[in-house]
Parts: sequence; structure tokens; C-alpha cells
Amino acid sequence: MTARFPFDNSYARLPERFYTRQAPAPVTAPRLLAVNTGLAARLGLTLPEDDAETARLFSGNALPDGAEPLAQVYAGHQFGGWSPQLGDGRAILLGEVVAPDGARFDIQLKGAGRTPYSRMGDGRAWLGPVLREYIVSEAMAALGIPTTRALAAVATGEIVVREGFLPGAVFTRVAASHIRVGTFQYFAARRDVDALQALADHVIARHHPQAEGPLGLLEAVIAAQARLVAQWMGVGFIHGVMNTDNMTVSGETIDYGPCAFLDAYHPDTVFSSIDHYGRYAYANQPQIAVWNLAQLATALLPLVPDRDEGIEAFTAAVNGFSDRFDAAWHGVLRAKLGLATARDDDPALALDLLDRMAANGADFTRTFRALSGPDPALARDEFIDPTALDPWLARWQARLAAEGRDEPARIAAMQATNPARIPRNHRVEQAIAAAVADDLGPFHALMAALAQPFADDPRLAAYEDPPAEAERVTATFC
Ligand code: AMP
Ligand code: MG
Ligand code: MG
Repeated sequence: MTARFPFDNSYARLPERFYTRQAPAPVTAPRLLAVNTGLAARLGLTLPEDDAETARLFSGNALPDGAEPLAQVYAGHQFGGWSPQLGDGRAILLGEVVAPDGARFDIQLKGAGRTPYSRMGDGRAWLGPVLREYIVSEAMAALGIPTTRALAAVATGEIVVREGFLPGAVFTRVAASHIRVGTFQYFAARRDVDALQALADHVIARHHPQAEGPLGLLEAVIAAQARLVAQWMGVGFIHGVMNTDNMTVSGETIDYGPCAFLDAYHPDTVFSSIDHYGRYAYANQPQIAVWNLAQLATALLPLVPDRDEGIEAFTAAVNGFSDRFDAAWHGVLRAKLGLATARDDDPALALDLLDRMAANGADFTRTFRALSGPDPALARDEFIDPTALDPWLARWQARLAAEGRDEPARIAAMQATNPARIPRNHRVEQAIAAAVADDLGPFHALMAALAQPFADDPRLAAYEDPPAEAERVTATFC
């Protein structure tokens, strides 16, 4: 069977200055590493039957009928510094497919060769980040967090020069779209109001159909990002590089570079090797989100007829992030604690637990999962000083008693929100190291372990363990 993708490429119909048409650069020896057949079915794709043909497709060596490959242009603030032109330096958008249920998705090859936006880069990716994005983005989807998805990973048979000579790979990413805060910034910086208007119309139609005008759009993106960051923090996720070009307007998580999940909880945790000042530390993420959204507000301002009125309304919208985030975050925390009702002192109860966890090196995922079991006192084992949890356990149990929720229902609800398994950094690194040595076994085993993160499965207990001292990952790389 030959490949069939139900393309309808709306971005390619936007004005020419939104992108550069660019075909992927062929690779020497494409070899299929992974393909997400479940996602392919959800998108309504027909894939070739043999792996060699599939590898040609997802390396860019063969284009599916109806593809209109292009590189998107955007700008962005990277670590707070303005970059007036970025763009897809190593990614090629093949086009958009419309799934059987009518939902629209971008299909993009990452590592598909140089584009006019590559600057000094080689346009390529190596196996490590490709598998990292594959594992973590699919884990995020299984955790129920809005995210871009992984459709395929293909080895190129070529060498990529990074920290050494490394095997090259191409990643196929699926997203509601790849439009970023930085896409708006690109046109705003050029005072291209016509382009801004066309982009806003496109984004409203595609992602936020209820939104009215630039203010409605801004508020919709703010709401989506407030929910998203709260969900990240609820699973201990640190994005690691929340530049404005890495923040979507759809509200999906994008750009799995130096991201990582907490093992031991501490609010100041940073993994990214390039985040020297902890700008993107775990607990800083809401502040950074609002900083980024202020940049979006600035970029949208030229679309408002009365500038003073616009500044007033947009400022209020950006300031509204804080309440939206708190509402979402407090909801996440209440769910993590098994609370079905809301009381004013619930956030303080949750923050008291987090403080004790931080002081005692408690593993974030294991602590909440233990609290979700029939014997919550097992959570004490996660604390350097187990007695540090006791006063809190008493408080929590009193709060639960006051609520009077049926216990099996509470346990079921907590287990459906506090995962047993997350993509722990050492497991991701082990899967990558094995793959570099041509063994994809650990990668596939890890993917299987993360597919149902909320299910108890004693056979997968090893994936719930924190790293041994020698396994601990202290830094991640883009
Ligand atoms: P990121 O830090 O992943 O958000 O990437 C920032 C910018 O650098 C984007 O415009 C990327 O397309 C570009 N970029 C990253 N890696 C490469 C590469 N190997 N070749 C060309 N461009 C790249
Ligand atoms: Mg990026
Ligand atoms: Mg990146």
C-alpha cells in the first residue's frame, strides 16, 4: 500500500512572507526506529506496509502526495534576549492533515536539513534528542497533558557533529499547529499589521474559534497557558527552555529540548545545561509564562484601533494570568490530595506538604503515588526524616475526614491523577545510550512502561524507582 495523508495545507495558503518553501534534504540510509501506528490511525494516515518505505517517508527522502514542504519563519525572546529572526532552522512542515473527526494537525519533520533560517546550524538532529522527544512527548500525552506528539523516528545513516560524532536521526512531530508567540512577534517587530491580522484570523479559526478579536485571542492563549503550566507542575515537569519561540498559541507543550522531570522535589530545580541563572527553574515557570504572554500582548497591540484602550485591556488580561494560574494550580493540587471540594486553606495544606518534601529530598512522583494508596503512611519512606511527614499526615487526614468522601472513590481518583511512572531522566538517558549502541530494547520497554502511567503494575516497578546515585542525571542538553 502506498502512503496516503489527508492533507489540507492552510498555512501554505497564508501570504508568502510567512514561510519559505523548502523540501527536506535527503539522507543517506534511512532506517525506521519507531512509528506510532496508534497516532497514525487517529490522524487517518495510511502508512506503507514495509518499514523501508516508511523510513523513506519519515526521513524526507520520499514525500507523501499532497505535501507542500515549507519552513516557517518566527522570532522570539531567548532567555529574555530578543532574536528578531529565528524560524524553522532544521524543521520542515510537510503540511496539515484533517483527521477523520475533523481535527487538523501539522506534520513536521525535525532534523530534515538546512533551511533559510538555519543560521550557523547544520539542519540536522542526532538520535539522543530525537528519542528524548519521542519518549517525553508521548509520556506527556499519556499523562493527559496537551502536547505535540511523536509520529516516527528514523535513523539517517549519517553522522552529526555535536559533543562528538553522533548518529543522525529525523523526528516526525505532530501538533495542533507550530504557531508560537514568536510567530506574532516576528510580524509585530516588522510593523506588518496586515500579516499580524492574517495570522490572528488564522489562529482564531484554528485554535480559539470562540475568541473575538485580538483581546479575545490574547485571553484564550493566556487561559490555555495557565492551565498548561499548572498541569506541568502537577507532574513535576520542567520545560527547560521557555523562550517565546517555544510557547505555542494552541496551548500545547512544544520543544522538548533540555526538559526533565523532577525526581526529588525542590522548587529551584534546574536541569538544562544552558540555563545558568535558573530562569526556567521548576517554580519559576508561571512567572516566565506571564512574561512571555506579555510579549504576545505587545505583539497583538497594533491590531487594536485605539492604542490606549488596547493597552489598558491587554494589561488587565496579562495581569489576569495570575488568578487563572492559581485557580488551575490549586485545582491540580486539590486533585493530587484527593479533595473533591475546595476550602480556602487547601493551598496552604498542599504547600506545607511541598515544603516538607523539599526539606527532606522526597521524590515528587513517589510521594504523591504513595499518598494515593490504601496505606498513605508509606509516603513517610520517601522522606529523609520520615517523622517530618507525620504532622502533615494528621492535618491531611483531618481534612479528608471533614470532607467525608467515600474512601475507595478517593483512592481511585488520586491514582488517576498521581502517576506511578513518569519518564525519569536516568531511564531516558539509558534508553538513548542503548540506542546509540544499536539496541532499541530499552527504548521500547520504556515506551511500554509509560503508556499507562496511572495503572499499578508490579512488573514495571523498576520504572518507578528514583535513580541510584550513579545513575542520577544532573544536566540535560538541547
Ligand atoms: P530551540 O532552542 O530548539 O528552540 O531552537 C532555536 C532556534 O535554533 C530555532 O530557530 C531552531 O530552528 C534553530 N536550530 C536549532 N538547532 C538547529 C540546527 N541543528 N540547525 C539549524 N537550526 C537549528
Ligand atoms: Mg524551538
Ligand atoms: Mg529545540
